[in-house]
Amino acid sequence: MKLLSVIVPCYNEEENVSYFYEELLKQEHALTERGIELELIYVDDGSKDKTAEEVRKLHEKDDRVHLVSFSRNFGKEAGIYAGLRKAAGEYAVLMDADLQDPPSLLPEMVRYLEEEGYDSVATRRVTRKGEPVIRSFFARRFYGLMKRISQTEIVDGARDYRLMKRCVVDAILSMTEYNRFTKGIFGWVGFRTKWLEYENIERAKGETKWNFWKLFLYSLDGILAFSTMPLAFVSVIGLIFCLLAFVLIVFTIVRTVIFGDPTSGWPSLVCIISAVSGVQLLCLGIVGQYMSKMYLEVKNRPVYLIKEEL
Ligand code: UDP
Ligand code: MG
Repeated sequence: MKLLSVIVPCYNEEENVSYFYEELLKQEHALTERGIELELIYVDDGSKDKTAEEVRKLHEKDDRVHLVSFSRNFGKEAGIYAGLRKAAGEYAVLMDADLQDPPSLLPEMVRYLEEEGYDSVATRRVTRKGEPVIRSFFARRFYGLMKRISQTEIVDGARDYRLMKRCVVDAILSMTEYNRFTKGIFGWVGFRTKWLEYENIERAKGETKWNFWKLFLYSLDGILAFSTMPLAFVSVIGLIFCLLAFVLIVFTIVRTVIFGDPTSGWPSLVCIISAVSGVQLLCLGIVGQYMSKMYLEVKNRPVYLIKEEL
């Protein structure tokens, strides 16, 4: 029998913990037939509700259920990292607690690994049904932009629902960076990946942890972590403004020589100074963003802290 570690990051998911467990076990029979046994790792990401208690109850009933509890909320990326580190299985799969990642796909996903020689099976949703229009719009723009500015493949609509062989898990664990943009990390490590598609499924119970602002900041993290194009953009702007300045200098000298009026041009001066200082601050800001990420990276703080383990 091969062991499959199911990793479930949870943040305030008390209503979903046991529901997820039941739904997952419905696939147990089909998986056993394929020679797969299960291990379940719930990562409690500093939940403020009874998530940890719910997992503890399951652990008492079924010793294949494990709990890793964080000292505070570290974010889903940290949860995924902790789960992968705890996973003992030859295979590992990441799943949301809210059942937006249908467990019914698991037997098929395992089949791709075992029979078709894939190293990982990833999923993407083809529709964004049930999502606010503005959010979909900006999500599309983000993926379009990433395609152009990043060498790493980041797939539109890709979910974190992913089944991996041990080699892929080890590759991901070898990336110990602090700013963990998982969607980029998956693309960066490569390996032979099979993509499965399905229609968006709405969360079973509870509420999403994302709002527009959080998603916006998350997309900035993604850009900073997987592209240095903004820095090139800064250099190009600098160059353009140097050329512009040169043209203006020549223009001013020629005009002064011909018309002999060196003091005119006060309004245009004000415009130029404010425009240039604006651009300078923008560029400094972009460089600053990279520096702040570097600062966090250099501090080398742990990605998460564990309070309790079962
Ligand atoms: N999650 C987490 N830590 C967080 C936020 C979310 O572990 O800080 C978990 C959450 O419990 C869920 C998964 O990540 O299992 C996906 O979160 P959510 O459903 O809120 O995101 P959405 O599906 O709306 O993108
Ligand atoms: Mg969800």
